[in-house]
Amino acid sequence: MTRLLHRQIHAELPMAVGGRGVELFDSHGRAYIDASGGAAVSCLGHGHPDVVAALQRQAEKLAYAHTSFFTSEPAEALAERLVADAPAGISHAYLVSGGSEAVEAALKMARQYFVEKGEPQRGRIVARRQSYHGNTLGALAAGGNAWRRASFQPLLVETHHIDPCYAYRYRQPGESEEAYGRRAADALEAKLLELGPETVMAFVAEPVVGATAGAVPAAPGYLARIREICDRYGVLLILDEVMCGMGRTGTMHACEQDGVAPDLLAIAKGLGGGYQPIGAVLLSRRIFDAFAEGSGFFQHGHTYMGHPMACAAALAVQEVIARDGLLANVREMGAYLRERLEMRFADHPHVGDIRGRGLFLGLELVADRETKEPFDPALKLHARVKTQAMARGLMVYPAGGTIDGSRGDHVLLAPPFILDAPT
Ligand code: PLP
Repeated sequence: MTRLLHRQIHAELPMAVGGRGVELFDSHGRAYIDASGGAAVSCLGHGHPDVVAALQRQAEKLAYAHTSFFTSEPAEALAERLVADAPAGISHAYLVSGGSEAVEAALKMARQYFVEKGEPQRGRIVARRQSYHGNTLGALAAGGNAWRRASFQPLLVETHHIDPCYAYRYRQPGESEEAYGRRAADALEAKLLELGPETVMAFVAEPVVGATAGAVPAAPGYLARIREICDRYGVLLILDEVMCGMGRTGTMHACEQDGVAPDLLAIAKGLGGGYQPIGAVLLSRRIFDAFAEGSGFFQHGHTYMGHPMACAAALAVQEVIARDGLLANVREMGAYLRERLEMRFADHPHVGDIRGRGLFLGLELVADRETKEPFDPALKLHARVKTQAMARGLMVYPAGGTIDGSRGDHVLLAPPFILDAPT
């Protein structure tokens, strides 16, 4: 009997014992093609020799030094690299251990920014209904995924949710993508005016929605208009690229493709490629200056922040991506995979939509392709697809979300960036 409290107590999981390239192996010697990178994590696949060597070097040199006593070479080098590759205006990186921690820290940075600036009345968060921002209490409050939140409602801070930007579901007949993007963004302005914009600190969104919706990109112009609205009302823009960032969509950050730079950018998953737990908040100069000229510190901190081993792994992952030209491969292989999916499922009665960017692709499963009627949530179809795929030696990520009150079924593909086209 296991002594480990698993995510699903009654599920019987195979024992993962090894990994090489795009494959994972279980204790019975079965191989699984990792077509989802776990949950969009393993961007270099498994057992990458350069990352393994970097980890070994760092372990031999220095495994840990508490960040209140010391800085470290890998942490400094990683921050330097992340800022150099960041969207305009980003001046510093704050290093944490994962995605929820990154979102949590970003929310606290937003709040402290307004305290430092003498606007303590700004404490409200606006986010979107179909979103996931993590499982810690602040991040969970920001997320709009009703079933993840339900049991914890009394512990969650006040958050106001607007509709997501989700063209497949919400674009009206005859409406252009651009017009839809504008309309979806204008819901933010309406919400700010309803709440009183001077009470709102931040708007939080994933540029390409992952775990709740299966790779739904923002409509053209949506994020640019969101940026405009945030600026008009002095609200900070927090983009959560924990899942869609770090090259997954074919550019380092997904928001580059929308021509938008946030005030705070949360990253994780592909940052360390699964070789170590690591995440970061990239913050803009004005946030840094408010702290530097104000109290002189950010009132936060975890024991493992800026962990040298995690930073060494992330640095090695990012160096391999740059050295091997993997962003170009993500674009090329993403286009190829998408084309193959579109050919394969062109007439499938239950594949309603195929979408995404780069190697971040989603399929929406529907009971009826014409009406877009979702399947009965009781069928838990997305979970069954995952189980059936595993039985066939394939890992795909099941994404469930709330659509008009009922769960939608999506399958997410996020394979490693090292893919080759079959010869
Ligand atoms: N934000 C987004 C967009 C995510 O997809 C996730 C995880 O799936 C998180 C935050 C939370 O990250 P973590 O599971 O590393 O805490």
